[in-house]
Amino acid sequence: MSIGLLDLKSEYEGIKDDVRAAIDQVLSSQQFIGGKQIQELESRLAELIGVTHAIAVGSGTDAILLALMALEVGAGDEVITTPFTFFATAGCIHRTGARPVFVDIDPETFNIDPQKIESAITDRTRAIMPVHLFGQCADMTAIGEIAARHRIPIIEDAAQAIMARSGDTHAGAWGAMGCFSFYPTKNLGGFGEGGLISTNDEAMAMRCRQLRNHGQSDQYFHERVGGNFRLDSMQAAILLCRLKQIESHTRRRRDNAKLYDELLAGVGAVTTPRIAPGQHAVYHQYSILCDQRDDLRQYLSDKSIGSGVYYPLPLHLQPCFRHLGYKTGDFPVCEAAATRILSLPVHPMLSESQVRTVAAAIAAFFDSAGSGRAAAVAGRAGG
Ligand SMILES: *Cc1c(COP(=O)(O)O)cnc(C)c1O
Repeated sequence: MSIGLLDLKSEYEGIKDDVRAAIDQVLSSQQFIGGKQIQELESRLAELIGVTHAIAVGSGTDAILLALMALEVGAGDEVITTPFTFFATAGCIHRTGARPVFVDIDPETFNIDPQKIESAITDRTRAIMPVHLFGQCADMTAIGEIAARHRIPIIEDAAQAIMARSGDTHAGAWGAMGCFSFYPTKNLGGFGEGGLISTNDEAMAMRCRQLRNHGQSDQYFHERVGGNFRLDSMQAAILLCRLKQIESHTRRRRDNAKLYDELLAGVGAVTTPRIAPGQHAVYHQYSILCDQRDDLRQYLSDKSIGSGVYYPLPLHLQPCFRHLGYKTGDFPVCEAAATRILSLPVHPMLSESQVRTVAAAIAAFFDSAGSGRAAAVAGRAGG
């Protein structure tokens, strides 16, 4: 039996009737834009995240772009972020006309290294955008201190971190704004595109609401140029159903991670994820580090075990950012992680025995690794 990186079909089985009833309601109302599902989703998520305002938008990418637009980041500005993230983080910075300024990551958490932020700050720095990668918050205490000292706002890319906490504070409640994604594979996944901005700043919330709807302040009166960044009601109705699973699913992810930690502790070739003190991680991914990563991935695939590489090419080395002038060697920690990282199935539908199967396969690979395995794999690859 195969073990996938995801099992969205099984997750759906758990709420099928609920979802169908919710969709039916939207269909009967024929109110597809705005309406009570959007409002309810926004108030439920604001409460969950621990902020006063939540603004539902069309995707996580929209959330990031809108947050930057709300801060009026544009041409000539710089935004500090990590090169080890999904493309959208830096893509949105670029789309505003600003320049993404990358800073290397911490080797253990894979999140932006706060110690390297300060030297990247210039008088053009308009925001710092940490990413809570794999569902573990960046070091927000340290980043918050630096940001406060320089009076630079923080936008959190919390796309992978709904329900994650650092101390008692949730991801998305630290910065001026937090950005979430409801892409189907995220921890709170919709059945299509979706996203959200969280904030405690009333003026920012109002601005985001305006920008979400073409910058309209009154009907057909435009205070600024925004766009169509709206979430639709059907998606909101579905997300309200998915929200009922978030607590138990997060617990399942954490339990699976804990079991991997135990089972892989004895496999010397593997470094399991390090969770910093005070962090409550939600394991959007469970990512190990090892040599022979690609061979291991093939070995697992041959045994019908899914795995993922997030991310194979750091953002400072992407062809589209060539004009920024970065080169290989600029961010060695990030570059090393990109060649050694592998994410294992950790989703909430995974059974304990499946976790054991995956861990046993990894142990077996490294047991037989040495020269024999390496030669066998190399021989096959070479044809
Ligand atoms: C998924 C993701 C996004 C983008 O979200 P979409 O909903 O796919 O637009 C941004 N940043 C990170 C870190 C993500 O994982």
